[in-house]
Amino acid sequence: MSRGIRKVRSAFHSRPTLEGAGVRLKRAFGHPQLPLFDPFLLLDDFHSGDPEDYLAGFPWHRHRGIETITYVLSGTVQHKDSMGNHGSIGGGGVQWMTAGSGIIHEEMPQRSEPELWGFQLWANLPASHKMMDPRYRDIRHEQIPFVRHDDKVGIRIICGTVAGVRGPVGDVVTDPEYLDISIDPNATYEHPVEEGHTAFCYVIEGAGSFSPEGASLTGPETVVLYEDGGSVRIATAETPVRFLMISGRPIHEPVSWYGPIVMNTREEIERAFEEYRNGTFIKQ
Ligand code: MN
Repeated sequence: MSRGIRKVRSAFHSRPTLEGAGVRLKRAFGHPQLPLFDPFLLLDDFHSGDPEDYLAGFPWHRHRGIETITYVLSGTVQHKDSMGNHGSIGGGGVQWMTAGSGIIHEEMPQRSEPELWGFQLWANLPASHKMMDPRYRDIRHEQIPFVRHDDKVGIRIICGTVAGVRGPVGDVVTDPEYLDISIDPNATYEHPVEEGHTAFCYVIEGAGSFSPEGASLTGPETVVLYEDGGSVRIATAETPVRFLMISGRPIHEPVSWYGPIVMNTREEIERAFEEYRNGTFIKQ
């Protein structure tokens, strides 16, 4: 391992994907990329000005063994779950949901002007925490600290600590960092990342150079996965860039993934289905 600036390992362009009851979204990475993004499993970008693309939503479905992190920049997603929680995510707010031993919920995008735009990240849980009690954290936009760096960089801290400022989400087993970073034109930002942690950026708007070698610019709907190292360096040219910067400690365990349930073994998946059939899926 080196303490140096991380090199780019690979980049993927988001692909059109049909999910839920017929939601047209863009998937940055998912099952085919296993285990490259460990501890992360999937990143979806839902971004559309046409309600027909999203109104079908994600009606009642179950999760076990993972966390789903939903960040909604524009529009509203209403949700309800088996623990009796209900509310809406929108306007730059986040829902950090830990399914743990099991949750049944629905996520329904509402007709949104001028558009619906958000992201859902799935983070895996290690075997030791897959059956933890489910929990859910609702973070409003105003609770997300915003720090500036060198006048040219603005960082919203959803999870992690930047310049001594801690984001509202803590106590997550894979020790993730989840930041929304904007960099003005003609600037360079070097961001420290924990060595050994998986780190990637997902470009939201504009373009930037995500490789330490500089040169080529990467635009929206692209995920850039890094090799190991002590920091990442992002530079801009004539246009600004906005991106999600996400990192976390890899789990290095076998992954058995069936739809919204992600366990370590095939037997655990079968048990989850059996419990769902006989009504013992929900432990809380
Ligand atoms: Mn869900």
